[in-house]
Amino acid sequence: ILERHGHDGTRLLEILRETQDLLGWLAPETIDTIATAIGWPRARVESTAGFYSFFHTRPLGRYRVLFSDNITDRMLGNRELMQALCNKLWLEPGRVSEDGLVSVDATSCTGLCDQGPAALVNYRAISNLTSDRIDTMAELIRSETPVAEWPADWFRIEDNIRRRDVLLNYDLAPGAALAAGLARGATEFLDEVKRSGLRGRGGAGFLTGRKWQSCRIAPGAEHYVVCNADEGEPGTFKDRVLLTSYADMVFEGMTLAGFAIGAKQGLLYLRGEYRYLLDPLEAALTRRRSAGLLGTNIQGKDFDFDIDIRLGAGAYICGEESALIESLEGKPGKPRIRPPFPVTHGYLNQPTIVNNVETLAAACLIAKHGGTWFAAIGSASSAGTKLLSVSGDVARPGIYEYPFGISITEVLADAGALNTLAVQISGAAGNCLADNEFGRRIAYEDVPTAGSFMVFNHGRDMFDVVSNFVHFFAHESCGFCTPCRVGTAVNRRLIDKIAAGHGSPYDIDEMFKMHRLMQGTSHCGLGNSATTALFDILYKFKPTFERRLQSLDFEPRFDLDYALSEARRMTGRDDAGAHLTDEKS
Ligand code: SF4
Repeated sequence: ILERHGHDGTRLLEILRETQDLLGWLAPETIDTIATAIGWPRARVESTAGFYSFFHTRPLGRYRVLFSDNITDRMLGNRELMQALCNKLWLEPGRVSEDGLVSVDATSCTGLCDQGPAALVNYRAISNLTSDRIDTMAELIRSETPVAEWPADWFRIEDNIRRRDVLLNYDLAPGAALAAGLARGATEFLDEVKRSGLRGRGGAGFLTGRKWQSCRIAPGAEHYVVCNADEGEPGTFKDRVLLTSYADMVFEGMTLAGFAIGAKQGLLYLRGEYRYLLDPLEAALTRRRSAGLLGTNIQGKDFDFDIDIRLGAGAYICGEESALIESLEGKPGKPRIRPPFPVTHGYLNQPTIVNNVETLAAACLIAKHGGTWFAAIGSASSAGTKLLSVSGDVARPGIYEYPFGISITEVLADAGALNTLAVQISGAAGNCLADNEFGRRIAYEDVPTAGSFMVFNHGRDMFDVVSNFVHFFAHESCGFCTPCRVGTAVNRRLIDKIAAGHGSPYDIDEMFKMHRLMQGTSHCGLGNSATTALFDILYKFKPTFERRLQSLDFEPRFDLDYALSEARRMTGRDDAGAHLTDEKS
């Protein structure tokens, strides 16, 4: 493994993953060997191995079952299914069976919200879990049947495309958009991208042409194109579909971007949860190399470009561009201090563009039809179309492509939503809209989104939704800066306290304080947006909180008096002055 990766530390994630596949886990002596071979201090290798949730520095079961734990999975009964599997295997969630056969746990959203509840078994995705499947799964594990021999239909992942527009109707042969872009020349093609008004589809909405221009003119020995396929925002799965059925368009968009900025190398960072896409994507790259669409002198021009795929290892924060670059360099995915920005100091400190999968795919349309054509689609400040990943309480979950400017009401009608209470836009980090806001429009000038669109009907309790999000952020905070590391943990404790019936207005005030603190002082977008949905839901669905606040006075979560009752009983000392309050029964 080390040989194949050239003892290169920047490939540490690949080295660790392949070693773990071979040995089952990353033992201390394995870390030693890897550190020596790549010439890094042991602590540096250990910090990477310890950062990612898909790397294991202690033995885990030979079967590792991870239940997807997005709110949409919960609405479909994932918790009950996980408990049923644990009961059948005589196991507690989060523990390894005593014989080392199996471990069962939960993981953050796996990008299968349109076909949940979902799970990963030895990192292979299984959709549409049912209690029958759980029964069979328990038998297959007990009989130690290799996962490769489990029923093939369990692993079938559907695209569920419900509405197509210009992007999903793309039907050009591989190489056609590239030929059009190359024929324009790099400067003219970049001008077309600027003219198009294309903005990044990952949520921030930065103008793509401006980003590419900044990178192109930045000095550096090499320039890099990075495709951010670390689609980790809860409720989004559009990139999964693009990478499954439109891989050529994505790779072609990367190649065009390389042409525009003067790069020879592209890197596609694929989230670890989409590992099942790795082989098909590698096969697509091989086909493109054979067809002369990657490599040297592409399509007879003086242009060399190739693409490498790197696999993430279960860290939501790596969707942040500088954390993703750190991860590509073999390090823990902790966001960098910016400036400098990646366009001047990115991968290996060289000028780098990081673009979302959908943004790069859209570049093919611009190469073929031109920027003016693209700019005419959508709304005034939001050119083109947007893919929405629709899930939750709808009759037809899946992928919907609309020109920017579509209203929430129209999306709900198309998806067959009835009796809708709320829509969570753009994942756990986004805004929650109540029914008086459904006339608003998906566009950067109104409701911007990276694509997640989760629907909740009047039968849902929004407290469950917010609790899921608060736990998600506490789990995914990278721990680099104190406001986010502590703030997300405090919020989790406060939400759990309110859920347990010990909440008071004091706890809501505490959450407000955390909100203000985290928004003003967090190092990156995760900490800044971790309380957005919490406060939307708190303002718009107040009764769900109020009915849980049992007391107007502060109530401690930890009841010291009650905790001492056993000691009092054992020592026989129970004088009245030793009690803080009336003892709880
Ligand atoms: Fe890490 Fe959170 Fe700080 Fe971002 S805000 S650097 S995720 S601890």
